[in-house]
Amino acid sequence: MPLTGIEIFKLLPKTNCGECGVPTCLAFAMNLAAGKAELSACPYVSEESRAKLQEASAPPIRPVTIGVGDRALKVGGETVMFRHEKRFENPPGFALLITDAMAESEVDARLERFNQLQYERIGLTLRPDLVAVRDDSGDASKFEALANKVKQASDGGIILMSTNPDIMAAGLRACADRKPLLYAATEENLDRMADLAKENSCPLAVKAPKLEELAPLTTKLTEAGVKDIVLDSGSRVLHQAFEDQVIIRSAALNKKFCPLGFPTIVLPCEMTDDPMKEAVIASIFVAKYGGIIVLSDFEGESLFPLLVERLNIYTDPQRPLMTTEGIYEIAGPDESSPVLITTNFSLTYFIVSGEIETSRVPSYLLVMNTDGLSVMTAWAAGTFVGDAIAAFVKKSGIMDKVKHHKLIIPGYAATESGGIEDELKGWEVLVGPREASHIPAFLKTWKA
Ligand code: SF4
Repeated sequence: MPLTGIEIFKLLPKTNCGECGVPTCLAFAMNLAAGKAELSACPYVSEESRAKLQEASAPPIRPVTIGVGDRALKVGGETVMFRHEKRFENPPGFALLITDAMAESEVDARLERFNQLQYERIGLTLRPDLVAVRDDSGDASKFEALANKVKQASDGGIILMSTNPDIMAAGLRACADRKPLLYAATEENLDRMADLAKENSCPLAVKAPKLEELAPLTTKLTEAGVKDIVLDSGSRVLHQAFEDQVIIRSAALNKKFCPLGFPTIVLPCEMTDDPMKEAVIASIFVAKYGGIIVLSDFEGESLFPLLVERLNIYTDPQRPLMTTEGIYEIAGPDESSPVLITTNFSLTYFIVSGEIETSRVPSYLLVMNTDGLSVMTAWAAGTFVGDAIAAFVKKSGIMDKVKHHKLIIPGYAATESGGIEDELKGWEVLVGPREASHIPAFLKTWKA
């Protein structure tokens, strides 16, 4: 159970030194209880109190990491039912299914798709996360060979899927160092799967025929010392599986029911044979509340929308995506190239820079910090206005890069042109188009 602010306060040093950024220990305790502060901000908490507070402040859904290094996937750690309450923390992982009954050529093709299907969007690389290696053959050596092949062919995370502990052990011989997710412990194999998870320090998925039978299994696993658990409620019917996701999240968050306080795994690959329907089902679990989503195959036309949906839902709604303020050189500009200016809302930057690239006119793009607001919003908020724009242009260093004195501003900020010219003596302000899509035609008319 989370502690109240007063309970936290009792565990703090009560010296009111202020080093945590607020003037009193009581204020810090209240912030900690509200999730607005990190315990690490106070350097004077005793070890005993720290242990108590860390345990009490742990998220109600345990964060679980699958894999190692840069591609390690962290799921769980969620603290809210709805994104607008705070934010969703750890995006779900998309897994591609490969089985040891598939032909070699099919396995190769899938691994190639796994590695190649990745996309650049607003400065981020969107790509799938995991390969799920399933034992369909019942042959331990085949499973081990496939796990080894997947390990060699990709640096993504791995899910080993078998309910036979001997076959799971064979898979682990191939890739235990990659800390795969073991799928799955069931009532029948629980003890041996728990031993494998502990011996290899791997997270363990647990599967029950229905949700009501899941909590006793997770309780047994935690009592056996397995901490990193992923839940499969067993349902392969969309309506029931969706309901299970909501009940699991609500039980962990609202009822503080620890046996369900873990991330989930959902398997759209086992819910339909129709690839498009499968993608739609997956999209539902991106929104609510899949931790790992296993797909029967990847195709660009279904994977890309899922990746974008995930990006959108897991973007912090309180913090716009921002681009760094500065001068961006596009297509090798020189001292006669046009100078455009825009705001640092990431989407604005990527749309404007993309249109400049399309124009093939080498240009300088000045990106001004407006706290991530778009041109219209920043203008309305008074942060993208004449004197501020002029001050930014002066300090940006662009005057050392061009010999002309012309600045192209967005059409939506046209009313600021006079104010900018007043502040930037000798400069001419040109009003560019309102819509970024008109930038290429506008730049074709450029004369220094
Ligand atoms: S740093 Fe610690 S001791 Fe100092 S005011 Fe904050 S909570 Fe209290």
